[in-house]
Amino acid sequence: MKIKAVCFDCDGVLIDTVASWQIIHKHFGTDSGEMLDRFIRGELTDEEFMADDIGKWKSVQPVIHRDELMRCFQGVKLMPGARELIDALKARGIMVAIVSAGVDLLIGSIAQLLKVDDWISNGFQYDDDGFLLDDGVVRVPAHHKSKMVEKFARINNVDASEVVSIGDNVTDLSMRIPGSHFIGFNGLKQSAIDGFKDAGVVHVTEQDCRLLWPHIFPNESFPAVGGE
Ligand SMILES: [Mg+2]
Repeated sequence: MKIKAVCFDCDGVLIDTVASWQIIHKHFGTDSGEMLDRFIRGELTDEEFMADDIGKWKSVQPVIHRDELMRCFQGVKLMPGARELIDALKARGIMVAIVSAGVDLLIGSIAQLLKVDDWISNGFQYDDDGFLLDDGVVRVPAHHKSKMVEKFARINNVDASEVVSIGDNVTDLSMRIPGSHFIGFNGLKQSAIDGFKDAGVVHVTEQDCRLLWPHIFPNESFPAVGGE
């Protein structure tokens, strides 16, 4: 395969987090609870799930400012090798995008930090003073990430066969648009481990993004550490 573009999921792939939504829950001492299971089963829309999460935070603290949400993400760390991988891809002229169902406050700051070519994620709405409104903004439906990968390929004039997507959740398999490639990375949930196996895709389980390189560029080792 000849790869021209790489689309990354963010939580659990480029950053060492399970879910950016979970980080806010932790801050407010709340939990998605059974709603998460219902969402995974497809019984809730992304909009309903987000509004429920926001409602749970507001039940603890009725007024929440954007700055407080931003501060929740202060401790987030990049996945080992993430910066090195993105830099090496860009040095090779590969287009890099983040397609995340996570929180835009976090995903946007990571996109900026890593200087990726494009990014999209879900997020929040605020009033004129920066206070959180009740409904979220869905740009990347968690079970249907393909639309955004397709759009990225189309606007950059890249064929599906030249695209590889990388994710840690079974739902990230929806990034694999017809004809394109997919690599599982750091799949921790049993659903991901089984899903990647059933889909017949490579699954890199070590938490080092550089180890993705030989799966993006077969028979090559990572330029900064290999090079023989
Ligand atoms: Mg993820």
